[in-house]
Amino acid sequence: MAEGGRVNWRLLLEWQTPTSAVLHMIKRVIYSGRTKYQEVDIVDTYDFGLCLVLDGKVQSSSADEKIYHESLVHPAMLTHPKPSRVLIIGGGEGATLREVLKHRTVEKAVMVDLDEEVVQLCKKYLPEFHMNSFDDPRVEIVFEDGRKYVERLPDGSFDVAIIDVTDPIEGGPSYLLYTTEFYRTLARKLSNDGVFATQATSTYYSRNCFAAIYKTAAYTFPVARAWHAFVPSYASEWGFVLGSKVADPLSLTPEEVGRRLKERGVNNLEFYSPDVHQRIFAVPPYLARAFEVAKPITDSSPVFMPA
Ligand code: SAM
Repeated sequence: MAEGGRVNWRLLLEWQTPTSAVLHMIKRVIYSGRTKYQEVDIVDTYDFGLCLVLDGKVQSSSADEKIYHESLVHPAMLTHPKPSRVLIIGGGEGATLREVLKHRTVEKAVMVDLDEEVVQLCKKYLPEFHMNSFDDPRVEIVFEDGRKYVERLPDGSFDVAIIDVTDPIEGGPSYLLYTTEFYRTLARKLSNDGVFATQATSTYYSRNCFAAIYKTAAYTFPVARAWHAFVPSYASEWGFVLGSKVADPLSLTPEEVGRRLKERGVNNLEFYSPDVHQRIFAVPPYLARAFEVAKPITDSSPVFMPA
């Protein structure tokens, strides 16, 4: 970028696969460092605004984080008839927490993130993501590995769980939160009509990983569904997966979705709506075929991105 004849630019290069990458021009580096668990960069980019980047992967950008966080949270929250106790695993920026707290049925939200430093950095530098959700009186923040936290819980502790951890990468801190063993434990810790949702990686760059996460939920919950939404800063359709003990998100008509949103006081959404709820669950043939051949993920046979 020539400014006054000088080259004055910084680049954020995000590898999607070993042979494909996305390039973002950076206006300003706000923070760059390494915590006990991961590399952290908070940068202001020309096209996507503020971005949180962990281990070189864009986690969210101010330009389109609402697409991601509304897609991750509201289908699961609306599938449960009355979510009062909600668990969030990961969710460092606080945007998942922000969306959960919009439901007036929520009486308690516990956010369990491995990395306290990441949460403190997001609190300081990304207020437009968390919107002070961390200070809501209903909220408890725990700094611990999400799987260990869940294993210690009494059965039936939560109505809904939202898993918003980093992608399953080899040597990363989150890949054991995408396995049948973990989902089986999580199912026991949810109420009899419990629901969980997880981010499930790219439907293009890691299609087999997305399909395997869906199969893992289908292997451990009576109802499993997958949906996707295009997130521009990820340069890909992004996948989400839900497991439910009773209710099926596909049974929610646009009228019922609208009624539940209104009844719970969930408004000022940017992406999710009664019509969008119908659209995002449509599974195109190429994904249906990937689901057919995919195998559930286990602790001993993890799946890493890009797969
Ligand atoms: N929205 C982002 C996405 O899906 O790309 C992810 C949100 S957030 C930045 C991811 C969070 O997961 C990070 O704050 C990280 O510390 C947390 N995390 C990773 N592994 C974890 C684990 N085993 N237990 C709890 N939190 C974990």
